[in-house]
Amino acid sequence: MAAETVSNVVCPLCGCLCDDIEVIVENGKISNVKKACPLGKNKIMGHDRIKAPMIRENGEFKEVSYDDAIEKSAQILAQAKRPLLYGWASLICEAQRKGVELAEEIGALIDTTASVCHGSTVVGVQGRGAPGCTLGEVKNRADLVIYWGCNPQEAHPRHRARYAHSVKGMYRPNGKKDRKVFVIDVRETKTAKVADEFVKIDPGYDYMAFSALRTILAGHADVVPDTVGGVAKEKLVEMVDAMKSCEFGVIFGGMGLTQTRCRYKNLENVISLVDELNAHTKFTLIPMRGHYNVNGSGHTLAWLTGYPFAIDFSRGYAWYNPGETASNDVLLRREVDAMMAIAGDPGAHFPGESLRHMAKIPLIQIDPYANPTTELADVVIPTAISGVEVDGTAYRMDGVPIRTRKVVETEYLTDEEVLERILTRVRELKGGN
Ligand code: SF4
Repeated sequence: MAAETVSNVVCPLCGCLCDDIEVIVENGKISNVKKACPLGKNKIMGHDRIKAPMIRENGEFKEVSYDDAIEKSAQILAQAKRPLLYGWASLICEAQRKGVELAEEIGALIDTTASVCHGSTVVGVQGRGAPGCTLGEVKNRADLVIYWGCNPQEAHPRHRARYAHSVKGMYRPNGKKDRKVFVIDVRETKTAKVADEFVKIDPGYDYMAFSALRTILAGHADVVPDTVGGVAKEKLVEMVDAMKSCEFGVIFGGMGLTQTRCRYKNLENVISLVDELNAHTKFTLIPMRGHYNVNGSGHTLAWLTGYPFAIDFSRGYAWYNPGETASNDVLLRREVDAMMAIAGDPGAHFPGESLRHMAKIPLIQIDPYANPTTELADVVIPTAISGVEVDGTAYRMDGVPIRTRKVVETEYLTDEEVLERILTRVRELKGGN
């Protein structure tokens, strides 16, 4: 059969959701991927795929049928008194919705990968609002781009070229020549090397830098010390001048803000700065959301429960209190007696104490790919790759929902099908409807 090119595929790896990918299909299999960066291509090509459902017996994995793996998972979850359902980033919103149903049914705590990445952003936005815009507006209008605490050259490789730096936009016809790009970070990253200006800041001083910028913006530069977090006052004054005089500015905030000292307070402060800049010009903020549809997980959970992550159903209703109900809060307190990791990799990202507890409790993994979590899992259920083998909805980092395309057929069950079957069986085991 001749090779077929499927155009405008949405990449399922990072929050850029590049929607111009070309996938070459031969004999029902993906043989090549064009336009994607190496990260996206690797994922679409299906590296490290889990081949079959598995259950661990006497320390070794044994391949089993989907029926057996789903039955075992349902038994674990039906018997658990404090189950945790974690992940929900690398799959579509339709599966996230099914996850909330399951969490409510078994009184679980449902949490997303945001709790170890941009949860602080979400909390900051709840407190101060979201002065955002779309990536399309950035492409067409932005003449000042600030990457603060993020390194898209390595984490979102096409971000600059597609949306923010070299790309030509309607009102920025000369691309790079029409924009100025600052990088503020604690080290000279690959992104810093290609920016117009790199401003090195001491670790943990972002909050103070935002306060200094706000103070200068308010006309009180005289009270700002000579250096703030290692940044000279003259440089801060220069930054404020650039911010005030641009036509359309955007700050892309990364985990250098969310997972460092001050966390959500950093976000509250930078949002205040952006608000105040809007008295002078148009200014916006977009969080650099990492995993594919982690942004969508916040939207889906919020419109179903009222809360975006770290939601505890153990009281029979949705309760939200990050610091008490996030995954690592309950794992470090050793409350969790069973866990399901779906479309996320806690094995690679959680602290050692949490992993030690995860190793002691029954752990179900639902994922297309093997990863460090697989090493700890007792039941492993492979699924179809969202956005490649199953279509659905995913939210880009700027909050734009995008309909993803199915490219090839698969024998793997989808996440939604697996969750539906676990939910049905859990209801039977618990003697419900
Ligand atoms: S930048 Fe992100 S969405 Fe775009 S191709 Fe690379 S991994 Fe995929």
